[in-house]
Amino acid sequence: MDTYKNFIGGEWVASGSGKSVPNLNPANTGEVLGHVPLSTPGEARAAVDAAAAAYPAWRDLPAPKRGSILFRAMALLDKEKEDLARLLTREEGKTFREALGEVQRSVNILEYIAAEGRRMGGRTIPSELPSNFCYTLRTPLGVVACVTPWNFPVAIPIWKIAPALVSGNTVVFKPATLTPATAVAVVSLFERAGLPKGVLNLILGSGGAVGNAILDHEAVHAVSFTGSNEVGAGIYARGAGRMIRVQAEMGGKNPVVVMADADLDLAVESTATGAFGSTGQRCTATSRVIVEEAIADRFVERLAERARKVSVGNGLEGAEMGPAVDQSQLDTDLRYIDVGRGEGARLVTGGKRLTGAGLDKGYFVEPTVFDGVTTSMRIAQEEIFGPVVGVIRVKDFDAAMEAANGVRYGLSASIFTTDNANTFRFVDRIEAGIVHINSGTPGGEAQLPFGGTKATGVGPREQGPEALEFFTEVKTVYVDYTGQSRKSGFY
Ligand code: NAP
Ligand code: MG
Repeated sequence: MDTYKNFIGGEWVASGSGKSVPNLNPANTGEVLGHVPLSTPGEARAAVDAAAAAYPAWRDLPAPKRGSILFRAMALLDKEKEDLARLLTREEGKTFREALGEVQRSVNILEYIAAEGRRMGGRTIPSELPSNFCYTLRTPLGVVACVTPWNFPVAIPIWKIAPALVSGNTVVFKPATLTPATAVAVVSLFERAGLPKGVLNLILGSGGAVGNAILDHEAVHAVSFTGSNEVGAGIYARGAGRMIRVQAEMGGKNPVVVMADADLDLAVESTATGAFGSTGQRCTATSRVIVEEAIADRFVERLAERARKVSVGNGLEGAEMGPAVDQSQLDTDLRYIDVGRGEGARLVTGGKRLTGAGLDKGYFVEPTVFDGVTTSMRIAQEEIFGPVVGVIRVKDFDAAMEAANGVRYGLSASIFTTDNANTFRFVDRIEAGIVHINSGTPGGEAQLPFGGTKATGVGPREQGPEALEFFTEVKTVYVDYTGQSRKSGFY
């Protein structure tokens, strides 16, 4: 069984640490995909050194040429998308359909960002003086680190690496230890697309050990991180100590608001998809449904009915919902289900680990619905990251808004209503980076900005036209063609 290699300075090199952990299929832990090396801090520093050495030539390559390499990566990914989706399902557990969706999203991101190479520009701004020309340029930062989670192990690395590269930075990529095989596949794409040696480097290993070594390296000028708030807060603080840029996209507790005038079928189906899709392991997953009392009984009954119909199992064998990613996430899901019961929420359906034929060797848990959840309960406040959704009953729109905004997070939010005034009041007042009207909380398109407010996000948005903001800085240029020193003198 293979041990995955690091990619440093354009070569695939084995870690010398002698330590590794197995990469298991969460739907069948008897299947070992490979072994992840726990690389050393020294190896992480070597990856940064390689990126630093490659930086001047990459920075000087014209942006449209950098974009062309991304287009080649896009074409390769498009051709290979089914194979990569299959690997993604085996490694992370999401269903093949979801995996294919994630890979297609990655193709779209590459298509969008590659073209930025031909668009990247600054602005011309008038001078207050005659015969003076003023403009701005976007320049790269240098070496940037991309630190990513396991839940979108193809799309998230690509939505960080692609804008970093097209802007002229070189990259050290540190993926989640749970999803090394997809990380290797992503790097191989860029390698085969013709990226020069050292421009993109991969370092596998535990966040604490190699993550800290990367962040502390003097050549690293920025870190783009997606993951938990606990780790994100540490990275933000560490980055602040060195005065480097930090972009962090973290947890969510995304609400759906269902008004009494909503299309009930649409609201139920979208809530179920948002809550149980990807086993609830999406930063944009629906974890709270705030329902107007007048229709709450009907809504809960229909949602529970839908939850019971979700087929759970191996995502390569036609199941609608796959497993939790590992033992620890499964334990978290079950623990929060206990917490919910203990707090007095009413368990309507689900709540148990699933066992039996074909399920015993996987981390499967039932789609779970709680009713009678109140805003102060932990299951209404804390991110669970599993297929668990809580219904909060409210008397009217204002109470719905108060509940929706009453959490520390602010990533995505939805409202189901047929009333235009409620729609726009919701858009005005909801504290979220992404708002959906009459569709579920997940989902997004490559050409639109993505990210959250409040404790969810720090730094500029990812994807869309905003993606380049984090990875570039502005240089302001004054060109004086008067041939005379400024009359204003010293001031
Ligand atoms: P995590 O535990 O925070 O890990 C994220 C990444 O950080 C992993 O690569 C991890 O490495 C690394 N890391 C850990 N400690 C580190 C340190 N001290 N220095 C540098 N890197 C370190 O998150 P996760 O469990 O993989 O992902 C789930 C979380 O991601 C959820 O909270 C979810 O909401 C969030 N998420 C947010 C978004 C968004 O856009 N807002 C999108 C997707 C996911 P190891 O794997 O080796 O620990
Ligand atoms: Mg795995």
